[in-house]
Amino acid sequence: MKRKLILSMFYMGLVAALVSITATVFVYQNTMRDEVRDNLREELRLLKISYPKLHTSDELMDFNADDLRITLINKKGKVLFESDTDAKQMGNHLDRPEIRCAIQNGSGTDYRLSSTLGVEDYYYAEMLSDGNILRVSTQISSVFSVFGHSFYILAAIVLGIAVVSVIISVQTTKRILNPIKALSKSIDSPALYEKETYPELVPLIEEIKYQRNIQSDMRQEFTANVSHELKTPLTAISGYAEMIENDIARGDDVKRFAGKIRTESTRMLSLIGDIIKLSKLDAEASNEVNDTVNLLEIAEECKESLAVACNEKNIIITIKGEAAVIKGNRTEIYELVYNLMDNAVKYNRQGGNVDVILSENTIRISDTGIGIPEKDRQRIFERFYRVDKSRSKATGGTGLGLSIVKHVAEKHNAEISVKSVLNVGTDITVSFNGVKE
Ligand code: ADP
Repeated sequence: MKRKLILSMFYMGLVAALVSITATVFVYQNTMRDEVRDNLREELRLLKISYPKLHTSDELMDFNADDLRITLINKKGKVLFESDTDAKQMGNHLDRPEIRCAIQNGSGTDYRLSSTLGVEDYYYAEMLSDGNILRVSTQISSVFSVFGHSFYILAAIVLGIAVVSVIISVQTTKRILNPIKALSKSIDSPALYEKETYPELVPLIEEIKYQRNIQSDMRQEFTANVSHELKTPLTAISGYAEMIENDIARGDDVKRFAGKIRTESTRMLSLIGDIIKLSKLDAEASNEVNDTVNLLEIAEECKESLAVACNEKNIIITIKGEAAVIKGNRTEIYELVYNLMDNAVKYNRQGGNVDVILSENTIRISDTGIGIPEKDRQRIFERFYRVDKSRSKATGGTGLGLSIVKHVAEKHNAEISVKSVLNVGTDITVSFNGVKE
């Protein structure tokens, strides 16, 4: 980026120098031409005053000057007098633009590149009262020769401008980039606001700080939630163990308490499992997402894993539709589908149904369960959010399943839509729009 900035500023300087020099030379050349035309007009005016007093056209020679050429041409284009060469050797001049113009309008001008290199011939002609045409001409340096003569000066100017633009661009680039570099090192340094930064950067610093604060708050909240979630089953386990230890629980109670200890431990294990999955998803933002994943195959695998839970509640899972093949990370997509199907079973009624419908790049999981109240629908994807805490806990829920679903969906550029009617059922569709490269 630094190189790009310096180079573009350098090129800008160079182009500006070349354009302005070229423009200056052309303006100079135009001014010169205007001046020459005025001079020639004046010369011709003076000649016209003396012309009637001349006996022969050869007397025009008396008016000859070093830088002035005089030509007298008759109406038919024949050269009657020429101050610089022999008039007899000159061809017909009717085709010359300034002569044609003088015959038509009384006067005419033209300039042409001379046969002599780097010189332009400038002509001014007027029709006289006897019908002849008097033409005066002079030579001026052409644009190219102006360039040529001043080549070294112009080259020095361009070089000077190039050097100055490099120095300025290096300094400007430093001034732009240094605060950004400093920013990446220490966002909280107060010096950033005082010396090194510039006003345009302040909103960015504020935004980064704001995002960092949000992230830090979220981390703190997550840690507090995790501690709380782990503390509850541990307190229960410790309580039951204490009762067994102190012989408060006897006979069948011991068995019952051991069962509770096992349930609480299982909950802790699945909680820790989900936390590990989430932190992996957080950490490995660029995890391999290029597997070819068949959603139908995954749905079948999940159905198998949920067989015991389905049996317990007499729930039937039906998988419909075509084989939907997408690009993604197979393990993560398995997690997504499993969590959605697991919820569809967990929050279903006895003898309910779960339909998994597949098409092209979408998977739809529809259940006949308790439904999700409207007010909670946006929040169910938050970490540890549960609509009914006791029900979630009773079914071994961690409150993290849908956060994993959301995370995986975001990573795979997938959209989730939730439709739900209380006590009728929930319908969740995930559309995979293709992994961003
Ligand atoms: P949990 O581990 O509690 O199931 P989730 O993140 O998977 O956590 O889901 C969050 C909450 O959303 C659940 O506690 C439940 O209240 C609600 N929920 C999720 N899926 C469904 C569903 N299919 N039907 C009804 N409620 C659901």
